[in-house]
Amino acid sequence: MIPHVVRTISELREAVAEWRSDGAGIGMVPTMGALHAGHVSLVDASMRACRRTIVTLFVNPRQFAPNEDFAAYPRTEESDSRILGEAGVDLLFAPAVEEVYPEGFATTIAMAGPAAAGLETAFRPHFFDGVATIVAKLLVAGMPDYAFFGEKDYQQLLVVRRMARDLALPLEIVGCPTVREDDGLALSSRNAYLSDDERRRAPTLIAGMRRAAAAIRKGAEPMDALADAKREIAGAGFSVDYLEIRNAETLAPVADWRNEPLRMLAAARLGRTRLIDNIAV
Ligand code: AMP
Repeated sequence: MIPHVVRTISELREAVAEWRSDGAGIGMVPTMGALHAGHVSLVDASMRACRRTIVTLFVNPRQFAPNEDFAAYPRTEESDSRILGEAGVDLLFAPAVEEVYPEGFATTIAMAGPAAAGLETAFRPHFFDGVATIVAKLLVAGMPDYAFFGEKDYQQLLVVRRMARDLALPLEIVGCPTVREDDGLALSSRNAYLSDDERRRAPTLIAGMRRAAAAIRKGAEPMDALADAKREIAGAGFSVDYLEIRNAETLAPVADWRNEPLRMLAAARLGRTRLIDNIAV
């Protein structure tokens, strides 16, 4: 079965109002499409928690810089909607750019604080403002009870959680574990850009991170373990944008290595493909 597709905010609100009137809990899963098993895991989490699930499909121009892959980003709505139908999704919200950003649109949600400081922001300065603005718009449009985001984009998850709290949106942001290939590579729509040779080398990113996390758990100096991992990852042909450990709850720099929850986060480029990943330490 193919989910019901709506293109406008008013149609979305009508559908949601009908569900609300019979008291259904509503989940939302925002995506940029090119769906894979990682997205489906968010959909499954929503279907378990909520009687109704809305998936949104929108490749958001405002989170791409001019030199990034907005035009090349895979657009596969037909197969996406088949996948969502098989998963039992009720509603697909797939608006055009003009519906989301009509003529004269002039609002940006600007993120500050530790979650938005450094890491991705150092390389993509406007990225989280673009993400916060679109996610806020989608959440306000659908007003779900829960919205589901992947830990794959860990910094994004914490930024979205911060934004939702700051705006007192009456909903819960739920983080879901990263889905990986058998060799460890995190599923990503951008993996489609990898050549066969790059695909073979790509799992070195997570392998190096896992080795460093294990060494740190056994007592190694974090900075030494990270330096070793950087060498290993660079050895597979990656150019490393960052490999850092932060406080897992706030993303603030670590002050007390023994007593804080730790998250290791990385971004690295392999040819023309930029991969990000993160794990608990
Ligand atoms: P995207 O379409 O890439 O913007 O991702 C939409 C949502 O799917 C985001 O919340 C991502 O964090 C999540 N996601 C992407 N890849 C994965 C994955 N491998 N495992 C779990 N969630 C993922």
